[in-house]
Amino acid sequence: MTPAADVVVCGAGIAGVAAAYHLAARHGVRHVVLVDERSPLSLTSDKSTEAYRNFWPGLDDAMVRFMNRSIDLLEELAESSGNVFRMNRRGYVFGTADPARPAELRTMAEVVAGWGAGPLRIHDGRPGPAAYPPPSAGDWRMQPAGIDLLLDRTLIRRHFPYVADDTVALLHARRCGWLSGQQLGMHLLELARRAGAELVEGRLAAVDVAGGRVTGVRITGPGGSRTLATERLILAAGPLLPDAARLLGVTLPVFSERHHKIAIEDTLGAVPRDAPFLIWDDAQTLDWSPEERAALADDPELRWMLEPFPAGVHTRPEGASPESRTLLVLWSYDCAAVDVVFPMPEPPHYTELVLRGMARMVPGFSGYLDRMPRAYVDGGYYAKTRENRPLIGPLPVAGAYVSSAYSGFGIMAGCAGGELVAAHVTGTVLPAYAPAFTLTRYDDPAYVRRIEACSATGQI
Ligand SMILES: Cc1cc2nc3c(=O)[nH]c(=O)nc-3n(C[C@H](O)[C@H](O)[C@H](O)COP(=O)(O)OP(=O)(O)OC[C@H]3O[C@@H](n4cnc5c(N)ncnc54)[C@H](O)[C@@H]3O)c2cc1C
Repeated sequence: MTPAADVVVCGAGIAGVAAAYHLAARHGVRHVVLVDERSPLSLTSDKSTEAYRNFWPGLDDAMVRFMNRSIDLLEELAESSGNVFRMNRRGYVFGTADPARPAELRTMAEVVAGWGAGPLRIHDGRPGPAAYPPPSAGDWRMQPAGIDLLLDRTLIRRHFPYVADDTVALLHARRCGWLSGQQLGMHLLELARRAGAELVEGRLAAVDVAGGRVTGVRITGPGGSRTLATERLILAAGPLLPDAARLLGVTLPVFSERHHKIAIEDTLGAVPRDAPFLIWDDAQTLDWSPEERAALADDPELRWMLEPFPAGVHTRPEGASPESRTLLVLWSYDCAAVDVVFPMPEPPHYTELVLRGMARMVPGFSGYLDRMPRAYVDGGYYAKTRENRPLIGPLPVAGAYVSSAYSGFGIMAGCAGGELVAAHVTGTVLPAYAPAFTLTRYDDPAYVRRIEACSATGQI
């Protein structure tokens, strides 16, 4: 007799392990089989900057509500595990030196606060109801939620002496921080396995469909090929989602972008070890010397480095030990849709460009420009939809589901994504944000018109 699974999950990245955890540990589904041709969490999920936030400008409140739910689940797991994945709540700090932007940041913060990101506190030097709670690397449970908007330059200098002198506003979103994505994923996998889920090494090579329904899957692995009878399959294949969906004869509206990051040792102490997540929110033209500028202008291959770069270069301290001096720095200045190939090609001059960009917000980085530090560069693909929202829910073949297209937010969204796809699979009550993430949202012409009109993707 063909062995059977109650649910097969294709992919043991954060999306797949979170789905398996919710099905097995929270819904009591008995035989969940998690299939991956690689080691768990090793394709994209271990390349992340591992940050989370509930500050999501965009189309409507769906992403804020979804991320709040994911953070609720992360906090529950942190509590119950003794914070095995080292979650903090230092916040995200977005900076600008553009005098036109404080008003824009204020409007954006008012909207996002109204969507559930927590109260907005304005610090503009006038007497106000609340003092600014400075960022803290302490226990996440003791940190505030909501949003602080710092418009008082004296206050900015007092609490952020390491950011550029001409900074006119800092938006400090508080229910944000980072964690160890690897530890989180392994913890979820362990809980799923304890509840009976099985991890199988192999590739989902075919899906059997009869009468428009999933009836089984074929898995090729080290021991050869085998068939597993199942009526429910979740695709959590990360950047390989289009290939996995093709096994069902389904084409999904997703594409991939390359995203890299660097890790350096901050020997110059550019960023204090207790700093929050720091993001420069202005577009910028890099600060080259006249000689460098002339040389770049002469070189058709490199001339693009003189062009304006987008907002969003960011950094954070990494490492739990008091001796750690590691910084992660990331700048997604090239977001072209690309074919997914492994190993992923490394972008030329990435380290130098990222350090130059970061020096605009944190001038201490300019100390690295004369003598580049040794940098460890890695990266992965963001699997994305056009409006940068995930795909979670049923697929056009009965019994098939998707939990994917997590772009640059899969670590933070994984828990709520796993919960949501498990609710779809088990037929339990869906949260109000569920329709915002199903494939059928694109059947609504009004929705398609709205996403075409809205450019705020919330991508960092
Ligand atoms: C540089 C960078 C920085 C990031 N920073 C953050 C951040 O700060 N915060 C955040 O929340 N997110 C961040 N992300 C995004 C996050 O890492 C991803 O959204 C997340 O890891 C996606 O997880 P996934 O499970 O969907 O995909 P993956 O981790 O890619 O897992 C998919 C799995 O499916 C398997 N698979 C695919 N096809 C098959 C098949 N046919 N058979 C068997 N197995 C298959 C693959 O082997 C793989 O293991 C970042 C990403 C990058 C690249």
